[in-house]
Amino acid sequence: MMEESSLLSLPEGMRVEHIQITEHGLVIEVKASHPTSCCPLCAQTSDSIKTHYRRVLRDAPCVGRQIQLLLMVRKFYCRNPYCPQKVFTERLPTFVEPWARMTIRCCQQITSIGLATCGKGGARLAARLGMQTTRPTILRRIMGLPDVSGSSVVYLGIDDFAFRRGYRFGTILVNLESHRVVDLLPDRRAESAAAWMRHQPDLAVVSRDRGGEYASAAREGAPQAIQCADRFHIVKNLTEAVQVLLARCQAEILVEKKQDEPGQDEQNKPIISIEAWRPPEPAHVEKVRLARRAGRYARYQQVVELNRQGRATKEIAGRLGMSDRTVRDWLKQGTFPEAQKRRKKQSSFDPFAPSVLKRWQDGEHNGLVLWREIKSQGYTGTERSIYRYLTPEICGEYGDLAVCA
Ligand SMILES: [Zn+2]
Repeated sequence: MMEESSLLSLPEGMRVEHIQITEHGLVIEVKASHPTSCCPLCAQTSDSIKTHYRRVLRDAPCVGRQIQLLLMVRKFYCRNPYCPQKVFTERLPTFVEPWARMTIRCCQQITSIGLATCGKGGARLAARLGMQTTRPTILRRIMGLPDVSGSSVVYLGIDDFAFRRGYRFGTILVNLESHRVVDLLPDRRAESAAAWMRHQPDLAVVSRDRGGEYASAAREGAPQAIQCADRFHIVKNLTEAVQVLLARCQAEILVEKKQDEPGQDEQNKPIISIEAWRPPEPAHVEKVRLARRAGRYARYQQVVELNRQGRATKEIAGRLGMSDRTVRDWLKQGTFPEAQKRRKKQSSFDPFAPSVLKRWQDGEHNGLVLWREIKSQGYTGTERSIYRYLTPEICGEYGDLAVCA
């Protein structure tokens, strides 16, 4: 049955004795028939067979069928008088480990599945492919893989990663010469990273984020190494800084433009609505709000431009890092959607505002009088509190009178 043994890619000297199709797959009886075998200790060949015995092995599947090998192998006597190993089992080094219950090629397939998927997903996929395995087996295979580089790391990249976003973080260590992950740590504490670095005496450069933890880790664990900020974090910081700068510039340009516009003098200023009649926001709050608005406005213009170029909503959203829904809403509205100014919580003055404004317009500009009036109607605030509403900006040319009232 030579053809079958080459069809099944069995190693030289193995003969297929019998193939049986069962409910679950194929059971193949194979017999080792090489006349000699090498002693694993002294490497001397021997042809003295002591016994035959059977090993049951799982093999890589064949056209989706599970394969079970019934492998008949032998024990040999070592005839080397100086060798302490008197009896040894036949070795099939390229095919199966001495005590394994699975062929090497089957192990390799499971490892590959595990590396491409994960423990749980790998077990499901393997079952579909005709391989019987479990999640722990897959994980054990992956954990058992030799370390990619046993050699020391000279240029190290270090950063954190999330096991679960926002909850649990680990540390990833990358050899920047080979661009390979060399280790993962279960947390992102400085002590853990420093302990790892202490075992790397050749570390010359540590490329890290801008945070303090890995900086102190490198200081502690690899004081000889030069620390540098990695390109990713530099570009990220730069991007953020440029965004804020541009937003601020735009806000300033917008403010300037607004001031230049004619017909905005105090006389013609329309009487503002009750809704907007609140104490002015502090300068720093306004600055941030304007910067945000400018950023938003720039983004709105990008959305419109991309839409004009015929890009799909999804693509626009992806390119600008926005949600599909926002892009759709913005385009639907057709104009720049002003953010709703966050409304302060209802003030006790609010219910009295309409009557105060009316009295103001009628010519009553004495704050004390206005306060007494609304106090008699149930206003519980202090006299001072109503002055905050009677500022020059709101009350136009009579502003200072109001404040002095
Ligand atoms: Zn020997």
